[in-house]
Amino acid sequence: MHATLQALLGLQQIDRKLYKVESELRRLPEELSRREADLAKLAARRDELRARVAVLRAESKEIEDYTTGMRQRQRKLENESNKPKVDAALLASFEHEIRSLKRNISQAEDDALRKMGNADEVDTEIAELEVRMEKEQEIFTEFRANVEKELAEAETKRAELATQREAASADGVPPEALNLYKRLLETREGEALAELADGHCQTCFVQIPRNLGVRLARGETVQCPTCTRILYTTF
Ligand SMILES: [Zn+2]
Repeated sequence: MHATLQALLGLQQIDRKLYKVESELRRLPEELSRREADLAKLAARRDELRARVAVLRAESKEIEDYTTGMRQRQRKLENESNKPKVDAALLASFEHEIRSLKRNISQAEDDALRKMGNADEVDTEIAELEVRMEKEQEIFTEFRANVEKELAEAETKRAELATQREAASADGVPPEALNLYKRLLETREGEALAELADGHCQTCFVQIPRNLGVRLARGETVQCPTCTRILYTTF
C-alpha cells in the first residue's frame, strides 16, 4: 500500500475512537441541558397554574363579598316592606328591587361556585403535576450522576487517545492529503477512509469506475465519487 494511505489508515484507527469520544463529550452535556429545560418547563407550568388558582379564588371571594352586600340590601328592603304605612307605589318598587336582587344573588352564587369548582380542578392538576415533577426530578438526578461519571470516563479516554494520536506520525503525508483527511473526518463522522474491494466502495457500496481503481493502484489519492471518502485497498 502507498505510504500516505498507510499513514492515514494508522491515524484513522485512533481518530475513529477520538471522534466517538468527542461526540459523546458533546452529546452528554447537550442531553443534560435538554432534560433540565424540560424540568424547567414543568415548573413554569406549575407556577402558571398556581397563579390561575389564586386569581380564581380572589375573584370568587370578590363575588361573595358583593353577594353579602346584596343580601344585606335585600333584608333591609324586606324590613322596610313590612313596616306599616308603606304606600303601594313604594311597596311595588321595593318588591321590584328585591326580585332583581334575588336574581343577581342567585347568579353571583352560581358564578362563585363555578370559579371555586374551576380552582379545585386546577388544584388537582397542580397536585398531579407535582407528583410527575418529583418523579422526573429523581430520574434527572440519577441521569446527571451517570453523565458526570460517563464524562469523566470519556475525558480519560480522550486524553489517552490524544497521547496515542500525537505518537502516530503523519510524517510524509502531503499536507493536502492530510487536510482532506481531516475535513472528511468531520463531515463523515469519524470515517475518512473507505476500502475499495470487488470494485465497490465498502462504506457506501457504490461501484467505483475502473479508472479510479487504476489511479489508486498508481499511488494517487482517490476519493469515492459518492461518499467522497479516501479510498484504499488492502493489497
Ligand atoms: Zn463510498
